[in-house]
Amino acid sequence: MLITIDGPAGAGKTTVSRILAQRLGFRYVDTGALYRGIALAALDANIDCADDNGLETMLKDLAIGFVVRDGITRLILNSQDISDSIRTPEVTMAASTVSARPVVRQYLLTVQHALGSEKKAVFEGRDMGTVVFPGADLKFFMDASVEVRSMRRFNEFKDQNRQSIGEVEADIRRRDKNDSTRTVAPLRVAEDAIVVDATDLTVDQVVETMLKHARQKLSGVFG
Ligand code: C5P
Repeated sequence: MLITIDGPAGAGKTTVSRILAQRLGFRYVDTGALYRGIALAALDANIDCADDNGLETMLKDLAIGFVVRDGITRLILNSQDISDSIRTPEVTMAASTVSARPVVRQYLLTVQHALGSEKKAVFEGRDMGTVVFPGADLKFFMDASVEVRSMRRFNEFKDQNRQSIGEVEADIRRRDKNDSTRTVAPLRVAEDAIVVDATDLTVDQVVETMLKHARQKLSGVFG
């Protein structure tokens, strides 16, 4: 069984996907991390995030993937652990730009299909249920108001004091626009997705809602 969770930045997908996967004994795959990894590689190599030829050449020699160390999933790029360095505001905005390039989406499509071959996984991203796994067993689209998403993102990083709440909200609005207006695999709700509006819900409430659907599905699949 394969579960997909799509939705805009800051909706709480990562937290929810992680817990949901844990409760079901499934693997969790954060596909945004892959886009962030490509963005970091481009920034490090001084390649413009919109330069298709430069990106294509870079991708030829690139190896990206996840490994589990002491029960924690780490992102590895060319044998370097980049799990922490992909979380800066610079990489976040570069990932938004790089994710609109068809050459990058095509490259990561192959990576994601390989990761999905084992099933029993929760895949989180923007186009999981629409493009990458249109045949997924269970699809969710998790949303929340832009104000709530900005506040959650701000609270997540406020100890590092990197951005004001206004800057966080401006970045989220810009990323929303990029995600929903790009030509390839724009962010949209899959026809067969269950929409969960998390604006007024706690993490536990969202997880419980999703678990209910997952258990129903599992009893149908294996019962
Ligand atoms: O989910 P996260 O915010 O970490 O993703 C970083 C960026 O990668 C997003 O702003 C989005 O543009 C892009 N992305 C995407 N498709 C996915 C996952 C992420 O375009 N499946």
